[in-house]
Amino acid sequence: MSELMRVKNYIDGEWIEASGVDYVPLFNPSTGERIGEVPLSRPETSTMAVESCYRAYGAWKNLSVSKRMGYLFDIRHAMIEKEEDLAYSIAIDQGKHISEARGEVQRVVQILETACSIPTLIQGETLDRIAENINGRVVKSPLGVFCGVAPFNFPALVFGWFIPFAIGVGNTFLFKPSTQSPYFMQKMGDIFNEVGLPKGVINIIHGNRNVVQPWYEDKRVSGVCLVGSTPTAKKMAEGCGRGGKRSMLLGGAKNFLVAMEDLQWDVFIENFINSCYGSAGQRCLAGSIVAAVPEIYDELVERLVSVSKTVRVGSAMDPDVYMGPVVSLAAKKKIENYIDIGIQGGSRLVLDGRHPKVSEECKNGYYVGPTIFADVTPCRTIAQEEIFGPVVSVMKVDGLDDVLQLIRNQAFGNGACIFTQNLYYAEKFISEADVGMIGVNVGIPAPHPYLPFGGIKDSHLGTDKVQGKDGIDFFTQNKIATIRFAPPSANGADAAQTKKGRSSVRSCVAS
Ligand code: NAD
Repeated sequence: MSELMRVKNYIDGEWIEASGVDYVPLFNPSTGERIGEVPLSRPETSTMAVESCYRAYGAWKNLSVSKRMGYLFDIRHAMIEKEEDLAYSIAIDQGKHISEARGEVQRVVQILETACSIPTLIQGETLDRIAENINGRVVKSPLGVFCGVAPFNFPALVFGWFIPFAIGVGNTFLFKPSTQSPYFMQKMGDIFNEVGLPKGVINIIHGNRNVVQPWYEDKRVSGVCLVGSTPTAKKMAEGCGRGGKRSMLLGGAKNFLVAMEDLQWDVFIENFINSCYGSAGQRCLAGSIVAAVPEIYDELVERLVSVSKTVRVGSAMDPDVYMGPVVSLAAKKKIENYIDIGIQGGSRLVLDGRHPKVSEECKNGYYVGPTIFADVTPCRTIAQEEIFGPVVSVMKVDGLDDVLQLIRNQAFGNGACIFTQNLYYAEKFISEADVGMIGVNVGIPAPHPYLPFGGIKDSHLGTDKVQGKDGIDFFTQNKIATIRFAPPSANGADAAQTKKGRSSVRSCVAS
């Protein structure tokens, strides 16, 4: 990319350049080259965007559900047509390898397809004849304006988790991408205009927490959602509590891969590579701790080191590379600092990923290669904190009960996977692992869009998760109607009859 790109806000269907504000530089993590700049927009601009969503809400919620679905179908179609361009926009600012970026776009297309079943998913419930001439109905209706914040690592997926469900049921949405990965939504704004999405149904604002702050007290905002780190989720939970906002806040993670003595080695190794090194370990479902039983521990460490050495590190655009860079120089330093902490803490560094060999054009990029610590004990910092990089801690555990206890003790509760052919182990793990998403012989237990996605404990604040039926529940409110009906003659003889037969017991329940 030769020209510096100035990221713009998208408000009321227009691209608006923020003026008189600070801009933060944006780098291509693969090369370290400066590629653009992102505005730290003013809080007033955020409020203006909320106002735009609010104005659009009345007409949007009253549009027939089939017309709203028409827009989702059109967005889906445009995304398929522009898959390569969209994937590039993810790879260039976030450093996700282009093949994974394509996968992310394809997953969003699947989510849009799921959201296109909203006419079925949003159907309420009815109970006819609660009493004579009285019916009851539960109506799922939209709430108004929702606002959402994305992390750097899934700029497209998080758009998919929030927006198709939110607007599909009739809300409007203000979205704040991460300042580290804003390009995908710049492409999406063009798509919204191309498909003729009514102005204000989706607005996009760029900036830091200052553009989020006004949402908590704004009466026009019905709910707030986040995918990000746990400290951010906790801060936003406070704001939402203060302002009385409905919230869905997905936080950080520290995921176990559990290796039992009867695992299938090829299945485990393939899943280990994808789980721990995919997206350079910057996934909320990335494997971070490998816990192995004593029978296979030594062989496992040896095999992990040997296969990890084959992982090719380099540019996100290079088809021969498996693992791209981490997102920023700061992220690289943070991960390297955790490696120092691991060494100082006494864990055995069996594979050092600092300063991996990369091509000449990548020499200023932000790279950390596969890194493995063996003999890590549960209390070590590297076993407890989210590193968010390709650093694996291998731990020896006595057996299934031992590892289940370690998972229970963890603050995070996003995902955990077991590798075994033993049905008893698998079922016990599903039943007792204290996490939200569980894999059996699967290294990334990410549920399909038809099902909810989300963790528990510090990995998820709020009740509903994203996607699936939870996605519908979060973005709708239940209204319950009690309907008395009677034929037109009810004012005459029937009414007199009803009066005569009235019980002497008075009840607060319609009868
Ligand atoms: P982050 O928490 O630093 O930032 C996330 C977003 O919140 C960004 O847009 C940022 O600008 C904004 N933000 C930061 N502080 C804020 C505040 N006080 N108020 C409002 N907004 C604020 O996270 P990140 O580094 O961008 O992303 C990585 C984190 O996201 C990891 O912890 C990862 O586990 C988590 N994550 C979780 C899931 C999940 O499904 N649970 C999925 C993806 C990423």
